[in-house]
Amino acid sequence: MKILLGSSEIHPYSKTGGLADMVGALVKTLDRAGHQVGVVTPLYWGIRERFPQMKKLDWQMDLPLGPNYVSADVWVLDLSKKSKVYFIDHPGFYQRAGLYQKNSIDFPDNAERFIFFSKAIVHLARYLPWQPEIVHVHDWQAALVPILIQHQALREGWETQPRTCLTIHNLAYQGVFPPAQFALTNLPLDYFNLHGLEFHAKLNCLKAGIAYADTVTTVSPRYAREITTPEYGCGLDALLRKRQSSLFGILNGVDYEEWNTTKNSYLPHPFSVRNPAGKQKDKLALQAELGLPVDSNIPLFGSITRLADQKGVDIQLGALEEMLSSQIQFTLLGSGSPEYEKAYRELAKRHPTKVRVRIGFDQGLSHRIEAGSDFYLMPSRFEPCGLNQMYSLRYGTIPIVRVTGGLDDTVVDISEDTEKANGIKFTEYTARALAKGMRKALVLYKEPKLLQHYRKNAMSADFSWERVVEQYVKVYGVALKH
Ligand code: ADP
Repeated sequence: MKILLGSSEIHPYSKTGGLADMVGALVKTLDRAGHQVGVVTPLYWGIRERFPQMKKLDWQMDLPLGPNYVSADVWVLDLSKKSKVYFIDHPGFYQRAGLYQKNSIDFPDNAERFIFFSKAIVHLARYLPWQPEIVHVHDWQAALVPILIQHQALREGWETQPRTCLTIHNLAYQGVFPPAQFALTNLPLDYFNLHGLEFHAKLNCLKAGIAYADTVTTVSPRYAREITTPEYGCGLDALLRKRQSSLFGILNGVDYEEWNTTKNSYLPHPFSVRNPAGKQKDKLALQAELGLPVDSNIPLFGSITRLADQKGVDIQLGALEEMLSSQIQFTLLGSGSPEYEKAYRELAKRHPTKVRVRIGFDQGLSHRIEAGSDFYLMPSRFEPCGLNQMYSLRYGTIPIVRVTGGLDDTVVDISEDTEKANGIKFTEYTARALAKGMRKALVLYKEPKLLQHYRKNAMSADFSWERVVEQYVKVYGVALKH
């Protein structure tokens, strides 16, 4: 198949979260499965310097954006003989240190930046010589693409009009803007209605994607069910119920070339199911790196997260208050809401021998925390898929997760299956329920044989991308029949 993807982030070029990991791995695996793939993504600050081999195409696009025309260059990087990444170069929009925000505040021109980006994807879909059959877009930043394609086909005719697929990585982020921004789409006003792009008198980019894409997917089966309910539907549950026959939940995979414990330059000591000794050494190295007391007997809990309400960082703070009277250590790597950053910094100040907090984004440290921790905390309020619990499993770090979305789909609690147990689950969204989960972890920690059993199960869990890609190809097939 010939597939063009559109995503506002893709590893290893840009990343703020799981979206980048997913798109990076999807592209690589589709290519290996023999498909021809292109990815369109913005050329953010610093990418060209890090990937000097990219080439500028002799292709300048000039696209309408409201009353103006905006131009952009296209740079291309070969991923393989047949697959490529296309970078949209408009310095005024994308040459910034952050992708979407500065100091935790959204850029005021995000509507312009990503409506233009969506138009650039459509432009490439239409004029690339290899003519993609499927355009697969991700999240609100590219969600206008299906309607833009349909409209162009209707108005101008488009013989090889591609079919579309939208993946929702997180329904909580919808790209909602004041109604005046609708003009930036250059679509007729007829589309600004309850069945189209309007949402409570505002422009809603994700809603447009859900309404007009041929197929819609989200990143775990449980989340696909959850988002059709008022509790998790973020105001779009009725529309999602309407699209249910075209809505698919496909669990993300893990890129085991990136996230592995045997050949990983970020980890000082390799380890595996058969050779587990390195994990203990990685724990001691992590304690030393963080400046915590170096002691293999103290259970170490880790967390790597955006500090946002979704991630349950409030109940995590509450549970830690209760649990830090025990002999434990805790480390957090993350950034986000200034209030949470402050709260975690203060927690570390009050418990200098037990807690280390690193505010920032650090790929290497994230691997070392996954490897060196004994337990991984993921108490999300909701979780479309979640990748860190899957990374934890592969790194033999027992995840403690709330029963929601992809967390429920990937972790097995002892109450579900004694033989296959690989983590600890709790249901209630409270600090008390999480603390109870942490106490179960402490009991497990004192039972080396049982802990070993959990670790073995965890490390053998297989979320490889090959199987995931087969499911996407099926969904593309459904879209092609539309
Ligand atoms: P989300 O996309 O909702 O943030 P996921 O669990 O799906 O959550 O993916 C998060 C990804 O971002 C993981 O690869 C995780 O390791 C990474 N990540 C999050 N915060 C940081 C950080 N501060 N430093 C390094 N990596 C981070």
